[in-house]
Amino acid sequence: MRLVLVGPPGAGKGTQAQFIASHLSIPKISTGDIFRANVSGGTELGKLAKTYMDRGDLVPDEVTIAMVRGRLAEDDAQDGFLLDGFPRNVAQAEVLKKMLADLGSGLDLVLELVVDDDEVVRRLAGRRTCRSCGKVWHIDFDPPKKEGVCDACGGELFQRDDDREETIRHRLEVYQEQTAPLVNFYADEGILRGVDATGPVEEVTGRAMAELRGFTRGPAQEPDSEDES
Ligand code: ADP
Ligand code: ADP
Repeated sequence: MRLVLVGPPGAGKGTQAQFIASHLSIPKISTGDIFRANVSGGTELGKLAKTYMDRGDLVPDEVTIAMVRGRLAEDDAQDGFLLDGFPRNVAQAEVLKKMLADLGSGLDLVLELVVDDDEVVRRLAGRRTCRSCGKVWHIDFDPPKKEGVCDACGGELFQRDDDREETIRHRLEVYQEQTAPLVNFYADEGILRGVDATGPVEEVTGRAMAELRGFTRGPAQEPDSEDES
């Protein structure tokens, strides 16, 4: 399946993406993770992206699109993928649509994680990320056994520079202005499914998987459906 996860910063996209991608055996492609890996690696792309990320602004489309184009061309993405954090505006969505159409394919579904602003702020303010493996924790909602240490790999946990209060507010504005219009874009295409992203992580994953199962059993997947008209 070719899937996109959309939702405000802190909605739980990264958290859900790892479970959904593993259930479906498709790669999770997170533009935020790729940018952060470039920042830590000190690459030219990382240096450029960092100035935008620290302010909570979007990295320019041409840079982001070139990066995604390269990633989608890799072998593991040929039979499906789950995009987390891309597209983030309608221009990126249009390019993605064209990119996939040129390969004779298209997106199957877009899952929108729905959660209100207060919850988003609570989630972002307590988010901690592992410096070694990138796994995401929360100081209250999903704390590691030992404070500051990743249970999965023993790595050091840190607070992202862009998870500070002023930047969080700006990122939410950027989401409303630039990313929220994607919801209408994909609703018009008939591939948007809203998922209530409140409550325990496993419950949210269950709701997302129910939407995906509904899709795979749906008439669009029936091989003979075109013959019936
Ligand atoms: P969050 O998980 O909080 O939604 P991400 O990790 O997805 O944030 O992204 C962090 C930052 O990386 C964004 O604020 C932005 O600066 C940059 N970024 C990620 N994806 C994109 C994209 N598709 N277009 C432009 N910038 C992006
Ligand atoms: P996004 O990628 O959308 O920015 P993350 O997956 O990084 O969001 O989640 C943001 C924070 O919220 C993390 O600290 C994560 O542990 C926590 N979180 C994710 N899902 C839930 C949930 N269902 N309930 C409580 N906290 C959650």
